[in-house]
Amino acid sequence: MNKRVLSSSYLGVESFLIEVEVDISNGLPNFSIIGLGDTAISESKDRIKTALKNSGFKLEPKKIIVNLSPAGIRKEGSHFDLPIAIGIMLVMGFIKDRYNTIDNYLFLGELSLNGDVKRIRGALNSVIFAKENGYKGVVLPLENFQEATLIKGINIVPVENLNDVVNFISKNIVKSVQTKIIEKNDENLMDFLDVKGQSMAKRALEIAAAGKHNIILIGSPGSGKSMLCKRITTILPPLNEKEIIESTKIYSIAGELTESKPIISSPPFRSPHHTSTPVSIVGGGKKVIPGEISLASGGVLFLDELAEFPRSVLESLRQPLEDGIVSISRAQYRVEFKSNFIFVAATNPCPCGYALEPTGKCICTQTEINKYIKKISGPIMDRIDLHVEMRRLNENELLTYQSGDSSKIIRERVIKARAIQKERFGDDIYNGMMSQKDIQKYCTLSDENREYFKKVIQTLQISARGYDKILKVARTIADLAGSNDIEKEHLMEAVSFRENSIN
Ligand SMILES: [Zn+2]
Repeated sequence: MNKRVLSSSYLGVESFLIEVEVDISNGLPNFSIIGLGDTAISESKDRIKTALKNSGFKLEPKKIIVNLSPAGIRKEGSHFDLPIAIGIMLVMGFIKDRYNTIDNYLFLGELSLNGDVKRIRGALNSVIFAKENGYKGVVLPLENFQEATLIKGINIVPVENLNDVVNFISKNIVKSVQTKIIEKNDENLMDFLDVKGQSMAKRALEIAAAGKHNIILIGSPGSGKSMLCKRITTILPPLNEKEIIESTKIYSIAGELTESKPIISSPPFRSPHHTSTPVSIVGGGKKVIPGEISLASGGVLFLDELAEFPRSVLESLRQPLEDGIVSISRAQYRVEFKSNFIFVAATNPCPCGYALEPTGKCICTQTEINKYIKKISGPIMDRIDLHVEMRRLNENELLTYQSGDSSKIIRERVIKARAIQKERFGDDIYNGMMSQKDIQKYCTLSDENREYFKKVIQTLQISARGYDKILKVARTIADLAGSNDIEKEHLMEAVSFRENSIN
């Protein structure tokens, strides 16, 4: 006898249908799975047999053949435990498909030896796929329930074990689960107020947040640069529904969702260490999972101690910084992940760290400093709009300097400036991403300001690329000020973020 159960799998963020066919006949007792193309097959077989036995379903000694199609597509092994087990139970008569569930639902889940259904990766993708393709619903692990409920208008049936599945298919009983109210994870008890002084760096981060500009803080140890960078998410606008789904999808595939964080509801902040492997940062690996640069999508990628990162990692950021996408190639296929983040970097100005402090403190030779700077200037600096230099505050400054605005107040300004950009470009485009054409259209200057700008460019010997960046930043500064036109003061401020020792 033969039965077919539906499931789905994914490659990158693309999902597709997988048909699980189970055929059971009177032959030499055997259990084989074809079409998985993975070493996970034998593990999967053992899990399914043991899970069925431990759930009270005694398998007759028969010849069981499971076929997963289409055959050519790469599939995750553990994903199909549940549909395979259901196929076997249907053919052996442990389940009766009284409500025509089998043709209308997708089934996903890994089994544990005692018959529990365990969390899988990419559940959200499958639910979106099921909805788009007109299926009635998805049966999936209870642990994936919260992420799945982000998608409305499709039945989500959470199951904890094989008996829950039997109850649903044979008796139409669905376990009732409370949808958790997901609080905006304001684990962020941090605030810009925590950092004294450094008004220029704070302002630069505000501009970066408002226009999605990439930014680098170059400063002495103890100047507060990492502390400030870590607070940038406190001034970013909250994610909208579409962005929440986008981010949660990537986290789901990466296996980064947890019971306490089943949904990504606020802008991600990722800060991989410089000793992280290139694969963990860029993505890839045997199963091709998204890396830090994709997990940061919709939020911030922060590289602290930028110069300590291997050159190869910095090089690999070039394409994502340019296109907002990373593509990972394999022999038979290519996977693309979004990697659309604000890039925030911090670095010392020299190996000892004190090149920006009053004379005498830095012990590096000019050659050492040049070598240090050269390492980061090549691949990355081209994509960074805002440069800020920071030095340590002395005791007197620490006592007298004000803290400036709170994150809440800054965030309100950022939200307003973002709204202006939405009017200008529509969704998902911000000043930091403007093309040459956009710059010509939206960054026009009055005759007087154009003359002034020309002079500045000549004096500071700014390149054509630097010229564009200043205009983009000036546009955001004008938006923050609620000004239609880019005025001289906006230009001057924008220029101040390029007058540095590193260019
Ligand atoms: Zn030094």
